[in-house]
Amino acid sequence: MTAFHHLDVAECLAATQSASDGLTSAEASRRLDELGPNRLPAVRTRGPMRRFFDQFNNVLIYVLLGSAIITGAMQHWVDTGVILAVVFANAAIGFLQEGKAEAAMVAIRKMLAPRAAVLRDGLRLSVDGAALVPGDVVLLEAGDKVPADLRILVARSLSAQEAILTGESVPVEKAPDPVAMDAPLGDRRSMLWSGTLVTHGSARGLVVATGAATEIGRIGGLLADVDELTTPLVAQMDHFARWLSLFILLASALLLVHGTFVGHHAFPDMFMAVVGVAVAAIPEGLPAVMTIALAIGVQAMARRNAIVRRLPAIEAIGSVSVICTDKTGTLTRNEMVVVVAETPQGIFTISGDGYAPEGTITPAGDLGRLACAAALCNDAHLRGKDGRWTVEGDPMEGALLAFARKVGSQPAARRLDTVPFDSRHRFMAVLTEGEGGRLTHVKGAPERVLMMCAGIDLHHWHTRAEIMARRGLRVLALAERAETGIEIDETTLQGGLTFLGLVGLIDPPRTEAIAAVAECRAAGIRVKMITGDHAGTATAIAAQVGLQTPDRVLTGSEIDGLDDAELALEVAGVDVFARTSPEHKLRLVAALQANGLSVAMTGDGVNDAPALKRADVGIAMGQKGSEAAKEVADLVLADDNFATIAAAVREGRTVRDNLRKVIGFELPTSAGEAGVIVVALLLGLSLPVTAVQILWVNLITGITLGLALAFEPTEAGTMSRPPPGRDAPILSGALGWHVVLVTGLFLAAVFGVFAYALDRGYSLALAQTMAMNTLVVLEIFHLFFIRNIHGTSLTWSAVRGTPVIWTVTAAITAAQVAVTYVPLLQKVFGTEPVALSDGLLIVGVGAAFLALIEIEKQIRLGLRGRP
Ligand code: ATP
Repeated sequence: MTAFHHLDVAECLAATQSASDGLTSAEASRRLDELGPNRLPAVRTRGPMRRFFDQFNNVLIYVLLGSAIITGAMQHWVDTGVILAVVFANAAIGFLQEGKAEAAMVAIRKMLAPRAAVLRDGLRLSVDGAALVPGDVVLLEAGDKVPADLRILVARSLSAQEAILTGESVPVEKAPDPVAMDAPLGDRRSMLWSGTLVTHGSARGLVVATGAATEIGRIGGLLADVDELTTPLVAQMDHFARWLSLFILLASALLLVHGTFVGHHAFPDMFMAVVGVAVAAIPEGLPAVMTIALAIGVQAMARRNAIVRRLPAIEAIGSVSVICTDKTGTLTRNEMVVVVAETPQGIFTISGDGYAPEGTITPAGDLGRLACAAALCNDAHLRGKDGRWTVEGDPMEGALLAFARKVGSQPAARRLDTVPFDSRHRFMAVLTEGEGGRLTHVKGAPERVLMMCAGIDLHHWHTRAEIMARRGLRVLALAERAETGIEIDETTLQGGLTFLGLVGLIDPPRTEAIAAVAECRAAGIRVKMITGDHAGTATAIAAQVGLQTPDRVLTGSEIDGLDDAELALEVAGVDVFARTSPEHKLRLVAALQANGLSVAMTGDGVNDAPALKRADVGIAMGQKGSEAAKEVADLVLADDNFATIAAAVREGRTVRDNLRKVIGFELPTSAGEAGVIVVALLLGLSLPVTAVQILWVNLITGITLGLALAFEPTEAGTMSRPPPGRDAPILSGALGWHVVLVTGLFLAAVFGVFAYALDRGYSLALAQTMAMNTLVVLEIFHLFFIRNIHGTSLTWSAVRGTPVIWTVTAAITAAQVAVTYVPLLQKVFGTEPVALSDGLLIVGVGAAFLALIEIEKQIRLGLRGRP
């Protein structure tokens, strides 16, 4: 092992056969073939067999297997067979659930794969982190995650947080100077370790180890990118289901004792009846089906470019009531073009599209120095291929390069020093040496840059900048100063600059964003813009995208003047926050939450992390966002697009609804099935549905109907309802009432049909067949009902349903027909053929049941709708 931390920079470059401007692409791809990708070995996941057998490890299954053995011993082979089928069906659902969940997580890991800025053939490129090889030169800035083990070549106020390796959460300062040979890992300040986070400054580093050869790879620590697949609600339901199961088992045991010794029923019959009750009553599939609903939600969001990083947030996303969003690149396209320049000589209009350096300046004039500043105080590169021009780096800087080339300026100068852009000081400065001598060029927010300039009419230029901003343009001021030294920093730049001019850039709103803002407003969600940009620009863009009150603006300095209570009062009515820095975001989140609002907040920089953490839903930008922001975010937007947030809210609401539907379906179904037997036993009546029939019903409906709800699409009108309040529980009183009502109706209908059949003089077996079919028909109608918890179920589109719904309905109908009419199955389940008229009667009972609960729902919705 080479001790890179101890060697000096030149020795390190020699040891990796590289140069300070990196490898050639050919050499990089040769090394990639030789050494393999920069990826940690994947954690071994359970194989499918293992996953399947793991499903048998739960209490319900033990009880069932025990029952199967007992019924087997009693030679009730049919019962044994059905019980075993229930066992396998359960295992199959669990297997499917975990498969779905794991697939969803794997897909998300792929989407979150980090990228790295690297020098290849002397040019800056953005590549997949996995494509790095030893010898590559990587560029890093604050917020980046270190993609491999690096030897620092150049550093500027660099520090990194290395907790994952050293456990030390205070950032460590870093510099290129070699350190002692035997320095421990945490003291090797000339190194950056893979998986750690750059918290401050910028650096250029040489890759010295990749993949499993990195320090993090050697200790075998793999960073869990995505949390476990559960949410508070699912955990709560899982817990509830366990306690309920235990309670049911105890109650069943009591029932068995009571029936045998008090009711004097034959033990084998009693035993089967009690097994039927227990299996029917335990909502064994509930947590699994809910997890499937979540996994489907996660996948649906991923398809819409919204990547859920923390599952619990999926419930929160559906109940968001305010979205605080960045402007640049989220509401706007971040495809900038310089359209106007203003210097002491006059105003110039610049034509041309995109980043192509072709266009005219009217009127003709000398913009040479302005263009030179724009080109030199710049970290971006333009790349033209077949007439298409793209930017590598910040789009705004790309636009400045295109502008400079339109003017005819492509200055060559050696860079000596830089003050990088920071959203707190809002300017950037570069010291270069070239034809014009040694010069500092500064660009930044006009208020800032004008302040540093000498000999100008400040008031005049502030007004000019303001007028440009009011047009929705992003305005930058440019300035220069001749230098003698070879270093610059923030303090030495505070005065004596020569003002060169202003440039105005358009950054049009995204059309999807305008539609999405409207959608959010319809959904009762207030959209607020929080931007570092000028108030004028922010107001103009806010009006273009359709925010509610674009003209009321709070600026960062105004926010500083308010205490928390005052801010909480102000914040609700204001939609535009301008000239803010990341620290303001945290206060804004807190102020909105103090108003009882559920807040989604976007962010991209390392300083946005606290606000993202505090927000109910923290949203990071997938493209321009830093790894630091992504790490704490609940949701990552793969396309940085505001419209994606609206899509995520929609999916979040769908998931919330589907979870409620699954619960609202499963609980009364279980209670109804079990209730039929329990009531009969307690009242000493003959069973309207035999135990083996209950097992059968539970088996076929459990693996079809409940599961179908996890696949429910978004209900119509989902985005025209107001958000549920902050902390509004998914398990509401209305849901509880629904469970009671439906259970009651199930019992009434099943006993009703059973009594009717006996009254007509039918045999007990036929009456039981009719009662069992009634139970299934009721469940199917209930399924159609529960699909529309907000709207009505009596519309054509509700009846038309979805392919999933009709597939399961058809499957169950076929199964019921078989069990009722196929002689072999009749023998097994003790059924008798039902006459057509009685069949129609049963369907009629189901329809009447639907009508009743639908009327009840409409009354309830109507009452809620009234003021
Ligand atoms: P948001 O993305 O939240 O809408 P923003 O990206 O416009 O905000 P910042 O990046 O903080 O906000 O930029 C604030 C201001 O700083 C800009 O309006 C501009 O005047 C100036 N600025 C931005 N980027 C640079 C840069 N690279 N160099 C110099 N000045 C810059």
